[in-house]
Amino acid sequence: MKKTLAIIIISAVTVINAFSQVLETKNWCLSRCDMVGDEKINTELVHLQMKNDSILKLTNLDSVKRIPLRIGIIQEDAMDVEVKELIVRRAIDNLNKSYAGLNFLFYIERTDVILSELKLEDLSVDFYAPYNRFSDEYDEPDLLSIYIFDYKDEFCEKTSTSISCGKTGGFSYILSERTNNIVMSRFDISDIKVVAHEMGHFWGLYHTFEEQQFGKDDFTVENCATLGDGICDTPPDPGPIYEVYVNYSTCELLNLTSDTGEEYKPHIENYMSYYKPCYLKEYSFTHDQMMVMTVAAGLPMRAKFIR
Ligand SMILES: [Zn+2]
Repeated sequence: MKKTLAIIIISAVTVINAFSQVLETKNWCLSRCDMVGDEKINTELVHLQMKNDSILKLTNLDSVKRIPLRIGIIQEDAMDVEVKELIVRRAIDNLNKSYAGLNFLFYIERTDVILSELKLEDLSVDFYAPYNRFSDEYDEPDLLSIYIFDYKDEFCEKTSTSISCGKTGGFSYILSERTNNIVMSRFDISDIKVVAHEMGHFWGLYHTFEEQQFGKDDFTVENCATLGDGICDTPPDPGPIYEVYVNYSTCELLNLTSDTGEEYKPHIENYMSYYKPCYLKEYSFTHDQMMVMTVAAGLPMRAKFIR
């Protein structure tokens, strides 16, 4: 009898404790969450900072290429930093996911606010002369900079009879020693594809639809390494002008053939294409694109950016 009673009492106490605990936790959390509201993004910031710092502490560096970044935020005055730290850290975290297959690990070494009235669109006038001048003035010798520029408010131009719209997400020279940076728009710094795309240029990749530099891809195995983007496992891509032929549900370009009768089947989801995100398909680099970037990373002109 005594034993049974003891057990019942303990159970009762446990039940009461459990209830009170749950209720208390719920109430506390709800009221605090309502009051503060920003703890989730601040927690994310801490986790991203920890991730960033853990890259610095890696000891097995044989296969890992650590690439410090200098973030340059371009703004007109020194009042407040106009790009949120969390936005930048998310962008670098996404960049590392995009480059995980290459063992490239980017981390933020330094962030500078650079005072300038230049907007992204100002840089490309006069054959990129303002961009080159800006780079000469602000680039660091052995440190890869990501400059984040503000953009013009209007993306569309209207006349009485027409409207045309366009937006630059960012740009970079392709494997050039002319500058040590990539340029991003504040608008697209949060776009996973645009950041990885510009970085792809920096490490040697051309657009999958490239034809200005080396001539149009002609579908032959013999010429795949010398025409188009110079990469054999990226199929010929007719380019963004033919985007209307893309079915974004099946992620396939349909019913478009070359002058010589071959069917175009480009990788819609490739980071170096100009297509939009494809339904349920992750962006990717091909094996040979990753090889190009890995080899480029071994060249002195790019190895100097790796620690
Ligand atoms: Zn590009």
